[in-house]
Amino acid sequence: MMASVKIDITEDTMLVGIAAAPGIAISRSHLVNRNRMAVIERRISPEEVDPEITAFTDAVVKSKSQLLEVKAQADSKELTEHLYIIDTHLLILDDEMLIGETLGLIREELINAEGALNRVLRKLRRVFDKISDEYLRERRSDIDSIGDRLMCNLLGETRESLADVKEHVIVVAHDLSPADTVQIDRSKVVGFVTDIGGRTSHTAILARSLGIPAVVGLETITSLVPDGTPMIIDGSTGTVILNPSAETFREYLIKKQHYDYLESELIQFRSLPAQTKDGYLLALRSNIDFVEEITAAREQGAQGIGLFRTEFLFMLGEGPPSEEEQFEVYRSAVERMAPFPVTIRTLDVGGDKFVPELNLADEVNPAMGLRAIRFSLKEINLFRTQLRAILRASAFGTVRIMFPMISGVAEVRDCKVFLERERQDLISAGIACGENVAVGIMIETPAAVLIADLLAKEVDFFSVGTNDLIQYCLAIDRGNEHVAYLYEPMHPAVLQALLMICRAAKSAGIEVGMCGEMAGEDLYSLVLIALGFSDLSMNAVNISRVKRIVRQVDLLEVKQILDKLVTLATAAEVVATLEREMHQLYPQIFPETRL
Ligand code: PEP
Ligand code: MG
Repeated sequence: MMASVKIDITEDTMLVGIAAAPGIAISRSHLVNRNRMAVIERRISPEEVDPEITAFTDAVVKSKSQLLEVKAQADSKELTEHLYIIDTHLLILDDEMLIGETLGLIREELINAEGALNRVLRKLRRVFDKISDEYLRERRSDIDSIGDRLMCNLLGETRESLADVKEHVIVVAHDLSPADTVQIDRSKVVGFVTDIGGRTSHTAILARSLGIPAVVGLETITSLVPDGTPMIIDGSTGTVILNPSAETFREYLIKKQHYDYLESELIQFRSLPAQTKDGYLLALRSNIDFVEEITAAREQGAQGIGLFRTEFLFMLGEGPPSEEEQFEVYRSAVERMAPFPVTIRTLDVGGDKFVPELNLADEVNPAMGLRAIRFSLKEINLFRTQLRAILRASAFGTVRIMFPMISGVAEVRDCKVFLERERQDLISAGIACGENVAVGIMIETPAAVLIADLLAKEVDFFSVGTNDLIQYCLAIDRGNEHVAYLYEPMHPAVLQALLMICRAAKSAGIEVGMCGEMAGEDLYSLVLIALGFSDLSMNAVNISRVKRIVRQVDLLEVKQILDKLVTLATAAEVVATLEREMHQLYPQIFPETRL
């Protein structure tokens, strides 16, 4: 336990961090010590090499057995869908870059084990820090947590386990590893807050699926809050209130009851169709980065995978995965999701998604550089390998293939030529492929919006990637916090773009879906239904929330609201009007307090 810092926190001290997992928790703080350990690097004599290597390999073995124990615990708590996170950590413990390089430094550079490990961890962190995509950058926290565990074991320090928490508390920590989070006893830990982390860290993802309210990225909360401080956290807004007054306490108690009531109601939606009151049926699908997420997606009622980001496959190993390795992963996804479709997006690297093994060039303006489909069309062998793996997997279920960041018809035609060539090649080699692999593109560039009618003639479906479309449309770097305030899904320009895309898709008779983050925000559901989207793909935990809106709306009604929204001049006006309309139509779901 960390020593309590005696500072006066005035009543109702408010801090705002990143809303990581929704819900409200009211309790007292419980500080967990996960401070960085003091690491001393020193030169060793050749005689010390063997003992240092033994100390390091012992620490690796101990870390593995601790993780296996956490895994067994998670198993018994029926958290099986999260075991892949522990498996990822176990894999990292076998990783050549981490283990091999540390051993190399001990042997060849004569550096002590803790110093060598520290150097390698710093190098790995630098690699991850270069990534501007939030999700991928957050994978650094996996390196941090495994690095901390390893270092702790190497230095013989002990860590407090969250499984030992005995009272109702809100955990306050510098950071929590997924292994810490999996060990949380939900009947005791009612919420947690951390100094670091983002919305897409594994810890945040876990907190969301465990249903534990969490606020992360508070920067200095561990140094501000003495142990046992009364506090409230609102994981939906990222607000933390220390020493709440009686009035604030009452206000949040009512909010909490309201939130908990609506949450308990959501469960009933899992098995129901996403159909409007007047019969318009949507497919709500899930976005995944790892095959293992499919279990959770199915539990939440996902009708397929609307976006399988394949970048991760290219980040885990030493180099690009082979055709066989990719095929196994895609086949497993397709089989696990059957009979629903799996939409596999070809490699989307470059720009904000940096994969060191692929030797991407240093670019002055990477967001507009050799990324996504441009990279694939240049690195033809990589592209062909991926296409073959996807086509082979299509023999095992329903596969849709999707190309990212398309900016012109010529690119689409090139992709189709390569796809057809690989199909013919496989067929002539007697290798099975699916009969009807739908071919689609992501609409992420303003160019694709402007020529949506021409593109629609070339493909079977569109999927709108609003994370990028908004970035390119409004000219704001999606990873730059200084312009984050301009990132407005309800900007009139974005609404117009969505209208153009949907109209083009409709007149060509092709499906139009959305897989950007916007698809999972229930405030926008009504707009997306009115625009005519046929499928929305999102983080699985949002499916029921969106479905609840879908099932309460009437298509004609929401179209009228959309007609109003498209006449407004600013995003703020659109949001205010939308919130007002939502409150009038669905006061239960959109109470005034949310406005
Ligand atoms: C998008 O851009 O909206 C999208 C879904 O793709 P990614 O976030 O992987 O770039
Ligand atoms: Mg994108």
